[in-house]
Amino acid sequence: MITVRGLSFEYPGKRALDDVTFTLGRGSITALVGPNGAGKTTLMRCLCGLERPLAGEVVVDGIDVIEEPRASHEKLGYLSDFFGLYAELTVAQCLRYAAAANHVPGDAGPRVAATAARLQLADRLDQAAGTLSRGLRQRLAIGQAIIHAPRVLVLDEPASGLDPEARHALAALFRELQADGMTLLVSSHILAELEEYATDMLILRDGRLVEFRQLGPAHAGQRQLVLRVAGDPAAALALLRARSGIDGIEAQSREIAFTLEGGDEAQAALLAALVTANVGLVAFTEAAPDLQASYLRSMRGADLVS
Ligand code: ATP
Repeated sequence: MITVRGLSFEYPGKRALDDVTFTLGRGSITALVGPNGAGKTTLMRCLCGLERPLAGEVVVDGIDVIEEPRASHEKLGYLSDFFGLYAELTVAQCLRYAAAANHVPGDAGPRVAATAARLQLADRLDQAAGTLSRGLRQRLAIGQAIIHAPRVLVLDEPASGLDPEARHALAALFRELQADGMTLLVSSHILAELEEYATDMLILRDGRLVEFRQLGPAHAGQRQLVLRVAGDPAAALALLRARSGIDGIEAQSREIAFTLEGGDEAQAALLAALVTANVGLVAFTEAAPDLQASYLRSMRGADLVS
């Protein structure tokens, strides 16, 4: 859905992106992470045709963004890290304006109502944008970015300033948009929050791609599990090591993480074996991706090679 090849960008005297190459699959939600000044905003602006790179290629849904920026804008929704809203316009007017600017054909009314409902702004349609709280302004700006149902949504720090409930609602919205077939690229410094929805992680540092990988199991048919035992983990460890289809065993105190080959039947059989062997099992769950740990490992790896 998004292909970036050999992308380099320079501000006067500063190389902000250096030969960046990756491809984002349709329906993926990619977390774009990296330290301050890594080039995340610059990359997003290049993807959206808002900056002209020094070299390289960006193709979004078959359209060359650098050659045809206007055509690509119909495919793209973008939320800038420092967005502006027309303070005097009401929420409904802001959404209508965004619909017109993005060439939404016909009567924009139903689209405005549906977008406002999706962002939980339906009861604010007549309120002036300038009088909204920070969180509500953020939601309105996201509404403006998705009003034309873009194929690709690029969001620079979308959750900054949102309360925990609103962040959770935002994660649910991203999953909903993904289910609609949208491809999302989301930058954030709060990795725990990206864990809720990201399918892939792209790490930038000093303008270079440090790592790009899929989160979760290495391949379909494999799942990551974690179990906890009440006492000595030796019996559980011995059982896991002796069983086929189990890999990557990592034990930390009374918690053991591993990958299991196979689906529900394999998982059920393993659980039954653990219970029968009376290893003192207290928890047996599918592991959530630990983005924070993974990010720090990658950054340490980058330190070792640079
Ligand atoms: P942050 O996490 O702090 O938002 P970022 O990863 O988004 O950072 P960018 O804003 O893309 O990073 O900046 C990449 C590099 O380019 C930084 O070193 C920054 O100082 C530099 N830079 C950004 N904008 C300009 C500009 N307009 N002129 C000159 N240098 C710039």
